[in-house]
Amino acid sequence: MKNLFVLMLLGLFSQSCDQSNIEPVVFSTDLSTAINLPSESLSDFEKNSLILMREEEKLARDIYTYLYKKWGINVFNNISKSEDTHTSAILSLLNKYQITDPVGKNAAGVFDNAALQKLYNDLTTQGSATITAGLNVGATVEDLDIFDLMEAQKQIDNQDINAVYANLTKGSRNHIRSFTARLSDYGVTYKAQYIEETLLKDILNSPMETGGH
Ligand code: ZN
Ligand code: ZN
Repeated sequence: MKNLFVLMLLGLFSQSCDQSNIEPVVFSTDLSTAINLPSESLSDFEKNSLILMREEEKLARDIYTYLYKKWGINVFNNISKSEDTHTSAILSLLNKYQITDPVGKNAAGVFDNAALQKLYNDLTTQGSATITAGLNVGATVEDLDIFDLMEAQKQIDNQDINAVYANLTKGSRNHIRSFTARLSDYGVTYKAQYIEETLLKDILNSPMETGGH
């Protein structure tokens, strides 16, 4: 009887492994706490924001994966892994609120949102010119990400979404610190394109933050 139970458990375990060929994403404690805050009613704005951010985080991941292949510098590899966590965190919220995932089976570099598709095409081309152009694209994507996450939070009242967005914004602040630090190794200063220059300065003049990705 006991053996049968163990066999059943093993069966369930191997079955669940077979179903997912993708490595399970492990969220930090902060991020999983944020995702698991109580569900609240969802406005159209919140719904559309989640759909956008799911793909915007994928955009970051896919661009950095592309630029890592192109330039082989670790900053792209490390940060692309963090973006994989970010896009997965938004997917968890989409699933929680039973919203259709815009990514579905889309491959790297393929986007449902036409504006993000154009951005992917433009930024991968731009970032392929030189290594500093690549790093500048990294900073640009983080700049956009911080801007969109902060703007969205002004109109979102669900605690879970705001807590996830705050965590992702913290990650983005660390990422823009990394990209701009590498740029300054090459004597290049990044200029803010989406957020205010004063906010960029505040971020770059403050240390790396822990607890986020
Ligand atoms: Zn991100
Ligand atoms: Zn980032």
